[in-house]
Amino acid sequence: MGERIVIALGGNAILQPGQEATFETQFENVRRSAEVIAGIINKGHTVVVTHGNGPQVGNILRQNEEAKHVVPSMPLVICSAESQGFIGYMLEQALRNELLKLNNETPVTVMLTQTEVSIDDPDFDDPSKPIGVFYSEEEAKQLSADKGWTVKEDAGRGWRRVVASPEPKSIIGSNTIQQLSEMGTIVVASGGGGVPVVKEDDGTYEGIDAVIDKDRSAFKLAEEINADLFMILTDVENVYINYGKPNQEILTEVTLEEANKYVSEGHFSAGSMGPKMEAAIKFAQTGKRAIICSLDQADQAMQGKIGTHIKPKA
Ligand code: ADP
Ligand code: MG
Repeated sequence: MGERIVIALGGNAILQPGQEATFETQFENVRRSAEVIAGIINKGHTVVVTHGNGPQVGNILRQNEEAKHVVPSMPLVICSAESQGFIGYMLEQALRNELLKLNNETPVTVMLTQTEVSIDDPDFDDPSKPIGVFYSEEEAKQLSADKGWTVKEDAGRGWRRVVASPEPKSIIGSNTIQQLSEMGTIVVASGGGGVPVVKEDDGTYEGIDAVIDKDRSAFKLAEEINADLFMILTDVENVYINYGKPNQEILTEVTLEEANKYVSEGHFSAGSMGPKMEAAIKFAQTGKRAIICSLDQADQAMQGKIGTHIKPKA
């Protein structure tokens, strides 16, 4: 019997470091990612795909700001919806095309998803989510002075603009995603963490400018649709402790206790591996397995051979 798997695609599934963000380049990356996922679907699993949008939403926001004298500038929340729309389009088409090559007629659909956050989230006062391209420290500080951006150094890789990244409270429409998934449909959902919305006192929703971390929303999604397996695919083959140091050690299978200990010892950077480990731990706490591995090795990792596996409580 196939499993219901939530696959969270990292940024490199759409755009690799150093590549120019043209449509053609991004589509080719998405096609390669879809090839991997189609292989998993073809084994009889039902996959719900979610993905990040950091570089894309940053670029769309920048286009809006640069062109505001020509076309009215859209707020970040709309840029978020736009990025979810265009990445979702690429993913659905690429998944359909890759499944077609395998003579597999599994239906695929994209659901433009909203994610509820709290207006009181502390991240609105101290933004933490890097978006868009990397800058030198000098360029970043100039952009901050010129445009009022908040800029921060991103995990030793350069400087980036940062925006608020509130904790996702719930994925709106996750029951629909689950129903589609139970019917065997492949759903691309909650892209870029979902469009952030807050609930007003009267129960209505309203969009808010922020970018939700896709690893955190991917966990919520996996929990809410009762997934059997949660896979976070990124650009490293494993999670490590003492990452990048001479005493770096690979993690292959970790218990919840070990994983929590490593988190408290600060082995995972806040803007990158931190949210992945937290998401994986929360999912393992629901009694099911989570895997963090590279996109290329997803299929082997599912078979337990490769990647970092966070084991559920026995
Ligand atoms: P994604 O786009 O997949 O979310 P991120 O860049 O956010 O990717 O996170 C993956 C990055 O996390 C890796 O490329 C690596 O540089 C970084 N990282 C930080 N701490 C660790 C760690 N302890 N083990 C492995 N990778 C780590
Ligand atoms: Mg990330």
